[in-house]
Amino acid sequence: MSNWIERDKQAVMSTYGRLPIVIAKGEGNYLIDEDGKKYLDLFTGLAVNILGHSHPAVLKALHEQGDQFLHISNVFYNKPAITLAEKLTKLSIAGKVFFTNSGAESTEAAVKLIHKWTKRQGEERRGIVVMKKSFHGRTLGALKLTRQPGVYQDFPVTDVPVYEVEPGDSAALETIFQQHQPAAIIAEPLLGSGGIVPLSSSYLQAMEALCRQYGVLLCMDEIQTGVGRTGTFFAYQDAGIEPDVILFAKGIGGGLPLGGIIAAEKLADLFQPGDHGTTFAPSPLSAALGNAVIDVLIGQQQLERGKEAADLLLTSIYELQKRYPHFINEVRGKGMMLGIVLDLEPAHVKAIQRGLLEQGVMVDVTQQTIIRLLPPLTLSEEDIEVFITKLEQQLADVGGRS
Ligand SMILES: *Cc1c(COP(=O)(O)O)cnc(C)c1O
Repeated sequence: MSNWIERDKQAVMSTYGRLPIVIAKGEGNYLIDEDGKKYLDLFTGLAVNILGHSHPAVLKALHEQGDQFLHISNVFYNKPAITLAEKLTKLSIAGKVFFTNSGAESTEAAVKLIHKWTKRQGEERRGIVVMKKSFHGRTLGALKLTRQPGVYQDFPVTDVPVYEVEPGDSAALETIFQQHQPAAIIAEPLLGSGGIVPLSSSYLQAMEALCRQYGVLLCMDEIQTGVGRTGTFFAYQDAGIEPDVILFAKGIGGGLPLGGIIAAEKLADLFQPGDHGTTFAPSPLSAALGNAVIDVLIGQQQLERGKEAADLLLTSIYELQKRYPHFINEVRGKGMMLGIVLDLEPAHVKAIQRGLLEQGVMVDVTQQTIIRLLPPLTLSEEDIEVFITKLEQQLADVGGRS
């Protein structure tokens, strides 16, 4: 076992299930471990490295901004961040951006903005609707412990009521809206860690219509689905709806921590100086990488090419399913965010993941029996062939074993 694995056990808290590999380098769509073994990376650091590793445009931005300054704080104007905010609103809705360092912080910013909006309306409207098995982050507490006038007292959002609905059931959604008069709904257009559960365009359209009818804010958590992952810049765009708030993070920073929310014009001026803030975000370096990511996706048509590669990947998985219909139950998702639902015991699925890793292919497993693929948009035809061939070998092996 690598010395690093033993040292990790001694020095780092054990909050993550790790794969027994120590990475030394990333190169395009591949990771290379300390023994020089190469792995096709179909996990991209949990939907972060949307352009793979060491993309030349990302590295160029890193060096150029690194030569200027790394951090200046929010008392100064931040040129890369201003440019990025302009690009993001141009690619989504008319409004303004608040930047954060992570997905969870984007959720918190959205919850505080929703609170401001509710107060502005002067209504007794309270609560937020979410989908069953949704994932929106792991924080919301620091605020409650900060004993300074104006910081917590003005934002009693840590005990906001939360209502859960079954994804796809618009009648249930309307009932909740009628019974509870919630302030907002926050939904992932395609549930990620909940098991790659897509919300259909018709459901999203119904959600939008109900939000307008009942005066509920429509918030899309695009933290995992955004920045081109599902084939459009944001996933909601495929349904032709217009959210009031968009949450983003993961892919935007090109590998560096960066997130934020985009709020529609009617909400864009609710936050006033002092209402919300953070020391680091937006890091000028992260924002410079964000600009590079967008320039590659849109300016260099990588979004379009990624969509074509994703279509080929999906077709190839469907063909594999035809050969192994007894093992592959269902293939779900969109673009470079796919779930292969296996009709196998969790132990067998774990064995397939380990087997693939030994053969140099890195995939994620979620909800125990779903192989989750979060490939880079730069995936090539050869990469797809490698993946399908190795997965087929694993399925054949399981067939022999069981
Ligand atoms: C990952 C994720 C988050 C949380 O992001 P962090 O950067 O880990 O805090 C929130 N929502 C969704 C949909 C996510 O996938």
